[in-house]
Amino acid sequence: MSTRPPAAEPADLAPGAMRAALAAVEPRAAADPGTIRIVRAPGRVNLIGEHTDYNLGFVLPAAIDLEIRIAFVPTDDGRVELVSGATGERARFDLNTIGQRRGSWIDYVAGTAWALAEAGVAMRGLRGIIVSSLPTASGLSSSAALELASAWALADAPGGDVAPLALARICQRAENGYVGVNCGLMDQFASACGVAGASVLLDCRSLDFRSVALPLVTHTLVVIHTGSTRSLTTSQYNVRRAQCEAAAAALGAENPGVQSLRDVTPAMLPRMRDLVGDDVFRRSRHIVTENGRVVETIDALAAGDLAAVGRLWAASHASLRDDFEVVSPELDALVEIAATVPGVAAARMTGAGFGGCTINLVERGAVDALTDRVMADYPGRTGLMPRVYAVDAVAGAGFVTEG
Ligand code: ADP
Ligand code: MG
Repeated sequence: MSTRPPAAEPADLAPGAMRAALAAVEPRAAADPGTIRIVRAPGRVNLIGEHTDYNLGFVLPAAIDLEIRIAFVPTDDGRVELVSGATGERARFDLNTIGQRRGSWIDYVAGTAWALAEAGVAMRGLRGIIVSSLPTASGLSSSAALELASAWALADAPGGDVAPLALARICQRAENGYVGVNCGLMDQFASACGVAGASVLLDCRSLDFRSVALPLVTHTLVVIHTGSTRSLTTSQYNVRRAQCEAAAAALGAENPGVQSLRDVTPAMLPRMRDLVGDDVFRRSRHIVTENGRVVETIDALAAGDLAAVGRLWAASHASLRDDFEVVSPELDALVEIAATVPGVAAARMTGAGFGGCTINLVERGAVDALTDRVMADYPGRTGLMPRVYAVDAVAGAGFVTEG
């Protein structure tokens, strides 16, 4: 019996299959296939810099080849009608009367339209179908991918005729102001500004960014899904965010140079401990040390020192577990198992935590050994079935070009 996990979701993202799927549910597409367009937006995996984005620090995500695609025909009637390829569910709204959020997945699309309108980006209606290979609610940013794919589909001009970073900020606004999740910029940034074959460093204060090379000749990125979707995330996320803001405000009251945890240095942490309770102190210590680890990871990657990358990712994981307290036992188990496999250079949880996925930097020849070890050990330890994805780093959202 094979111990291999099933490959990525069965969803068929090939242009031909997507055209046929749209034609099957949308008579306009069947009648005039030449008008069909396809857009794509990738998910992302964060290599290091967790919960630092909303504290105006550093993040190092890569856009990955698990993605959301929308095949659609544009219309001039101002109506947006989308079918979920996974469930067949159809949802709609009108660009002229977007209204309030409804509590369903269409909110991510309607919210993007709302934010695009607010930014003055010209839009038109559409009939489309959404197809995805990206696990949802798993810390790989399916929400941001859906927003970016929607933005590319809704905007009259390619990408709304704004820079990818500006489009990312519009999509973040959609999630903050319409869907009601107070997320930072990282997810939308990665889906919009991803670079093929590389990760991307973002300074969340200045919004400067640059690509950071990965050792992908010898190694590959492996995402391992715990089999449990994130739980409690929105409420716990907002609690963490409020704790970080309280910590920055406490130190900022006596030090005007401190406006966010980005401004707190390790030398200031003892004073922080005097000012705030232990929980809030440990939350802030995670952010301060994590920003340092992002910078050190970039130096280690540049030097080709993967042993150092491994130590930094392990320290990040421990800090997220002990100080930030967002690591579930399942995430811990996956990182522990990975550490026993020769050729796994680095492993840590990725994304907001409370379930979801780990990220592993693995020698190409060791991916099968890691997969086998995880499949052998993890289900017995947790009662859950993991999923293993070897992923490539890909470019940010845009049209799918067929050649
Ligand atoms: P994450 O961004 O980590 O995947 P979120 O909770 O932020 O998790 O976003 C997940 C939500 O995004 C889903 O509950 C759903 O509403 C929406 N979503 C993601 N992918 C799709 C899809 N392919 N089709 C419809 N809705 C989707
Ligand atoms: Mg999300």
